Amino acid sequence: MKKVLVTGGTGLVGKALEEVIKQQQPKDEEWYFAGSKDADLKDLMATQALFDKVKPTHVIHLAAMVGGLFHNMNNNLDFLRHNLLINDHVLQTAHKHKCTKVVSCLSTCIFPDKTTYPIDETMVHNGPPHPSNYGYSYAKRLIDIQNHAYHDKYGHSFTSVIPCNIFGPHDNYQPEVSHVIPGMIYRMHKLINEDEPDKPESEKVFTVYGSGKPLRQFIYSLDLAELMIWVLRNYDSVEPIVLSVDEQQEVTIYEVAEAIAKAFDFKGKLVCDVSKADGQYKKTASNAKLRSLLPDYTFTEFDKAIKSSVEWFRSNFDQARK
Ligand code: NDP
Repeated sequence: MKKVLVTGGTGLVGKALEEVIKQQQPKDEEWYFAGSKDADLKDLMATQALFDKVKPTHVIHLAAMVGGLFHNMNNNLDFLRHNLLINDHVLQTAHKHKCTKVVSCLSTCIFPDKTTYPIDETMVHNGPPHPSNYGYSYAKRLIDIQNHAYHDKYGHSFTSVIPCNIFGPHDNYQPEVSHVIPGMIYRMHKLINEDEPDKPESEKVFTVYGSGKPLRQFIYSLDLAELMIWVLRNYDSVEPIVLSVDEQQEVTIYEVAEAIAKAFDFKGKLVCDVSKADGQYKKTASNAKLRSLLPDYTFTEFDKAIKSSVEWFRSNFDQARK
């Protein structure tokens, strides 16, 4: 019987994993989803106590200080220190507990700023990251270094996945913290339902931050959860693997706003505010390695996934993180 501990089990990806596991009902795996209330993983003793309690044989390590462009820009030191501590505590405690496998989470936004495209798994360490999120990026890059070091010294199967931008139910909608999709969903909800109550909706204007031109790949959290479970069960290399939609599925930030407007049936106008930062223009990632192993995997259609995410937000407005 495998005992799988999910750190960060209460977040966007953790909740998606829980949902997929609920559907799959695996007979030979028991899953435990831990949030920060179970243990503050910045604290080594608390991390050890969590592992002593759960006794995992496998770990999916998601817990991290996570945030969008503006949150990162203002808090690089905290992103660096908190994530370094969390990652070191989880990996070393997994080692002490003789865990068979650990799958940790990197991100496509930690890749070098100046690079050729598409980016792939071999390029993680090839140059400095974008200055906006260097704290988060260097802490994440070190997970890959640690995985190799544990493998070299002890032969451990500690590996990592590199998701592109993620969205879905249970996202973080807090304005100061949120990523682009949950940020827009909350702002559009407010514009339609709260702001300027006397104005007809058709006269309301939704502001897209920046030029709307940057390109991004977005993966639906439920798709990512399925792929991460596949990695846990079937992927046996220490080298990271990109978990992203295909390159042709890249969309502009403006197209994201259009999809969200469609899901809300918003009747007003979309306008770009070019005085706001754009961040990296693009960070197109290649999922060729994933495709070589899982050629037939079908990702949920972007508009459909956005619609489900907006519906979740509206139905769970009171308990959503905002
Ligand atoms: P969320 O912000 O939704 O969730 C973060 C999770 O980490 C929560 O369960 C939170 O617990 C937990 N956590 C945070 N700090 C601590 C701590 N000190 N001790 C214990 N637990 C802690 O993140 P996501 O689900 O979006 O991200 C999951 C992983 O995916 C992360 O490693 C992230 O870096 C990575 N990633 C995310 C992307 C995205 O677009 N969201 C893109 C690419 C990678 P609680 O809520 O209980 O406080």
